[in-house]
Amino acid sequence: MITMRVCPNCGNKGYKERIREKDFIIGECEECGLTYLLNPPDEKEIYEDYYTIEFKGDDYNKDSRFAHLSEIYEINRQRVAFIKTLLENNASAGAYKPRNDFTLLDIGCGTGLFLKSCTDAGFSVTGIDVSMNALNFARDNYNLDVSKKTLDDLLKEGKKYDLITMWHVLEHIMNPVEELKKVKGILKEGGLLIVEVPNLNSIKFRLSGKKWKGGNHPLYHRTFFTAATLKETLSKSGFTKIETRNLPYILDNKGLLYNQSKKLFNKFSADAFLDVTAS
Ligand SMILES: [Zn+2]
Repeated sequence: MITMRVCPNCGNKGYKERIREKDFIIGECEECGLTYLLNPPDEKEIYEDYYTIEFKGDDYNKDSRFAHLSEIYEINRQRVAFIKTLLENNASAGAYKPRNDFTLLDIGCGTGLFLKSCTDAGFSVTGIDVSMNALNFARDNYNLDVSKKTLDDLLKEGKKYDLITMWHVLEHIMNPVEELKKVKGILKEGGLLIVEVPNLNSIKFRLSGKKWKGGNHPLYHRTFFTAATLKETLSKSGFTKIETRNLPYILDNKGLLYNQSKKLFNKFSADAFLDVTAS
């Protein structure tokens, strides 16, 4: 018999089944509305094989021989620009100067591509991840300060960060509230957290249902957020200033119609990804 876990956000066990994929059941909590994987696989079995890296360090560029890397390069460029704008708007508080004591932590940094774009833009960065394979790649190719530390390790060290990013990480975590409380603990007073997750309420997910790998990925994804449940999760974790952000990732090669619809979907929290900042 398979045991179903209780809702990680509210502890309730009543759920409405939403998706069934092989043995995996994704249900919506009847109490708080969070959608989560009810019967996750053993954590230990899955992590190291997150990354089979089939490219070289210098393949990460605008005109890469790998189309997906050019796309990630452009997405990361837009993320860095977004961060700069955020910080510049906050310049009265003296927040933004790509100086040495401004610290950015990327949780789930993987092969370090986002951090590489950050260092190119003058930021002082550090990252953590669960995959040694990915971390070694980030160190060897981009000379990044990354490690396999956990949030508990960082809490123990007592170091705090100005800006923390979690790009497509929160949906992998078994108990998002528990981990986000730790994130709050390593964020400086007035510091900012940026979270991006796949959007369960996206037009993409509504149209393609369980075929959408971005959202339905039961082996790795534990929680499936909507704008509402993401905010609720952050709020339960002690974050107070939670704001939805528009980050539609406009890509030239996708054509005008695609980009215009993405902008529109994004505005109504129906784009493929959700972005929020919290402090
Ligand atoms: Zn719940």
